[in-house]
Amino acid sequence: MTPLPRTPSFRLDAKTALVTGASSGIGLACAAALAEAGAQVTMLARGAGRLESAAAAIRATGGHVTPQALDVTDITALRALIAARGPFDVLVNAAGLARHSPALETREEDFDAVASVNIKAAYFAAQAVAQGLIAAGKPGSLIQISSQMGHVGGVDRAVYCASKHALEGMTKAMAMEWGSHGIRVNTLCPTFILTPLTQSTFDNAERRAWIESKIKLGRVGEVEDIMGAVVYLASDASALVTGTALKVDGGWTAG
Ligand code: NAD
Repeated sequence: MTPLPRTPSFRLDAKTALVTGASSGIGLACAAALAEAGAQVTMLARGAGRLESAAAAIRATGGHVTPQALDVTDITALRALIAARGPFDVLVNAAGLARHSPALETREEDFDAVASVNIKAAYFAAQAVAQGLIAAGKPGSLIQISSQMGHVGGVDRAVYCASKHALEGMTKAMAMEWGSHGIRVNTLCPTFILTPLTQSTFDNAERRAWIESKIKLGRVGEVEDIMGAVVYLASDASALVTGTALKVDGGWTAG
């Protein structure tokens, strides 16, 4: 009989994962998906209340999760947490924020707020997780939740686009440096997904029409659209995938 290749496993049993921004939206969906695939997930977000409630919901489905309240812009605390709880086999960096304005009117404090979460915290979270993996001699998968806006521009989104393009660049450079350690680094790039972050955009009828006209599949995204993609990137199913972007954009960036 012909020897058949076997599909690498999408399971994450015995793996540990850290998900930032895990109390809401895409981060919560990622935490739920990784837990469902068998990972032990540390869920990190700022507010303890929403986080505890999110963790309880995942536990009720049989998932193994540990909530941890922490502001990712406190880089010292972030490093200490990762050193104490790691090494993490998987990082999903979903903490992020948006402060949209026309580029001519961008305020410096908005630029700094977006950069500190979307770029700086993402950078040092990846660095700290990679340091832990390398010290332990373990491979790993680091996933940055970027955006289609890491690949194209968007009206009133110069700061947000700058932050997501930065994420794409750091991901490629980190993938080059850490590949020899078996550490993969990729971005996951959603289109507009209905979450608390985008609610105000969707409440604007003109903006919603613009979004729906750009998504070739003709509908806006839901957090469920991200869940298979994050399990793929976290698992052995994507063992040769690094330094790249997985777009879940309904065809937005296709043209
Ligand atoms: P959300 O507002 O629902 O969730 C954001 C999460 O980040 C929350 O859990 C919040 O507590 C956490 N967070 C923010 N600042 C933090 C900080 N300083 N410390 C710790 N946690 C912090 O937003 P979302 O839509 O789920 O967005 C998650 C990620 O996905 C972001 O990086 C966003 O840029 C990206 N994204 C979202 C969309 C979309 O349409 N919703 C599209 C593309 C990319």
